[in-house]
Amino acid sequence: MKYDLHIHTYNSPCAVLKPKTILKIAKKKGLNGIAVTDHNTIKGALEVRKLNKDRDFEVITGSEIKTDKGDLLAYYITKEIRSRNLLDTIDEIKKQGGLIAVPHPFRTMPWLRFRHNISEIAKRIDAIEAFNSRMLFPWENRRAEKIADNCALAKIGSSDAHFSFDIGRAYTLFEGDLRDAIKKKKTKAEGSIILGSISGTLGFFQRRVIHKLRNL
Ligand SMILES: [Zn+2]
Ligand SMILES: [Zn+2]
Repeated sequence: MKYDLHIHTYNSPCAVLKPKTILKIAKKKGLNGIAVTDHNTIKGALEVRKLNKDRDFEVITGSEIKTDKGDLLAYYITKEIRSRNLLDTIDEIKKQGGLIAVPHPFRTMPWLRFRHNISEIAKRIDAIEAFNSRMLFPWENRRAEKIADNCALAKIGSSDAHFSFDIGRAYTLFEGDLRDAIKKKKTKAEGSIILGSISGTLGFFQRRVIHKLRNL
């Protein structure tokens, strides 16, 4: 199975993707499933799920929560996550039976990094995003992979798509069911960061300029 586990819709201020476009491109790229993970909301995921009529294509309800210590990915949740304190957010996701991954823990920009010792919370989370296609430098992903190994956490790969050309540029490979594969740490993260800086720059303008103009 090949899943892209980090995709933003237009419900994120920095992204433009429509649910219809996401499904079309994800299938064209040969993905078997995706997780829709908008910033601090499951609205986008619910929209994509509603639109998906293909039983062989899984759409996971997710969200990327901005906690006080950095971003956290939540998967298989059913309600909005209200907490913003890292440890409370972990509890809230677990209470909903969700899975937790730390996305892009070692981004070059210090304010976008994960600012809590991962080994301290390793037993309470499930995975590390060991490959994110929007990184600027390969060592950002290499460090993430290493921390996953050191903490014995599952590795996931994802595009962190904000634009159509991002979708499927990184992905998670596994056999059978994703939840099982993550629990057994039998997932593989792969992808490319070649267009990562372009997507990052576009996302910055989208958030700073276009989103603000639209909301005037
Ligand atoms: Zn974003
Ligand atoms: Zn993201």
